[in-house]
Amino acid sequence: MCGIVALFNVLKAAELTAVGLHIIQHRAREYAGIVASDGDELYVKHGKGLVWQAFKDAETLDLLHGRSALGHIRYSTSSDVGDKHADAQPLVGTYQGKRFALAHNGNITNVDELSKLVPAKRIKTGMDTEYVLRLLEMENSGDIERDLRKVLPKLKGSVTIAILLPDKLVVVVDGSANRPLTIGTIDDGYVVASETCAITNIGGTVVKDVPAGSIVTFDSNGCRITTYAKENAKKCCFEHIYYANPASVVWNVPVQDFRRRMGALLQLYCPADADVVTAVPDSAIDIAEGYGSSGRSGVYERLILRSHTVGRTFIASTQARRDIEAARKFIMVGHRIAGKRIVVVDDSIVRGTTLKQIVGKLRELGAREVHVRSGSPAIIGACRYGIDTQGKELVRAHMSEEELCKEIGADSIGYLPIEALRSLYKDPDDYCFACMNLNYWD
Ligand code: 5GP
Ligand code: MG
Repeated sequence: MCGIVALFNVLKAAELTAVGLHIIQHRAREYAGIVASDGDELYVKHGKGLVWQAFKDAETLDLLHGRSALGHIRYSTSSDVGDKHADAQPLVGTYQGKRFALAHNGNITNVDELSKLVPAKRIKTGMDTEYVLRLLEMENSGDIERDLRKVLPKLKGSVTIAILLPDKLVVVVDGSANRPLTIGTIDDGYVVASETCAITNIGGTVVKDVPAGSIVTFDSNGCRITTYAKENAKKCCFEHIYYANPASVVWNVPVQDFRRRMGALLQLYCPADADVVTAVPDSAIDIAEGYGSSGRSGVYERLILRSHTVGRTFIASTQARRDIEAARKFIMVGHRIAGKRIVVVDDSIVRGTTLKQIVGKLRELGAREVHVRSGSPAIIGACRYGIDTQGKELVRAHMSEEELCKEIGADSIGYLPIEALRSLYKDPDDYCFACMNLNYWD
């Protein structure tokens, strides 16, 4: 998963881009990069780790001159080459003899086909995104929109792209709109971001989402939206369930409200005879509040806190490491656990690492019963569109609900059914549930 923030015609563009990226840092934390333009030249800086680590010196941002900037945070999905800065985005190429920059959120699924179109010696990184950059370099007509119309139909999968040229910013969302991208205004200029919380928290005003299948150009004439592909919306429901910040409105759905409604529905479908409802922090807090809102299956209380110095345990590379990280991450409110019947709500179960740890700790502290509830329906298939799940690690791909319940040591387990999740949407057919129902679309 990745995040994009871009500004056009705004004072201190690079600084504001850095703040915007920091606000959506939950989306990715392996690499950060910002490219700025003063209208003529591009200035480029990439770094490893969090935005604030990559851009910790004020001087670094001072070198990114100009009123336009494109920023990206990355959590690799397509390549795992490791530590190389070459794997950070935005990627920089040459167009009409000048540098241009490109950033991508999503996952291109037909790299095999694309590799036949681009000479191998031109490819310098392991990223699917580089093919788009090279194909545009090869077109090089000087009319970037025209070149995009030639290149984009060759791509499959989920393609949300932002391109910075010396004098313009161009963004693209493919017909699936699988990943969000929203347009806003800020002062006399524009801002584009993966999540609305990045727009509103840097002083911008949200205008609208980039429509499915369109190219949006920001230049000295203002903002222009044109269609290049038919809409066939397959928006990722996981943005609402887990990925997005609860402060964001994704595809016109406020994330926090969505999660509360998920929780309330989860309680109706999977009630429990319990005293307390608690959340696996932070991502399940709104879902657990929703679950506890009726009081019929216990009252919401914060029994589990989290250490904010431990990063995401999910992405640690070995199971032993994930176990240790998960154990360090959670801090139990020990004196309020003994003798209680507790419902533990998480947003999703992938490998089962988190809940196994938590159920064990609650039992050690004297919980009388522990009931596990998942806001997401069972995840049984890999994500091909930008979330880093491969398939074989998914515990529910090879274990039944009952087996998993035993494995993690819970008294009961319950998942929100997929039909219930769909019922939370006005337009469920516009969403992708492929990791839950295996309906892959590209
Ligand atoms: P598990 O511990 O079952 O392997 O993973 C579930 C936990 O990982 C949940 O608490 C959920 O918040 C988090 N999670 C779910 N999907 C993702 C993902 O794609 N990336 C990361 N970093 N965490 C995830
Ligand atoms: Mg979590």
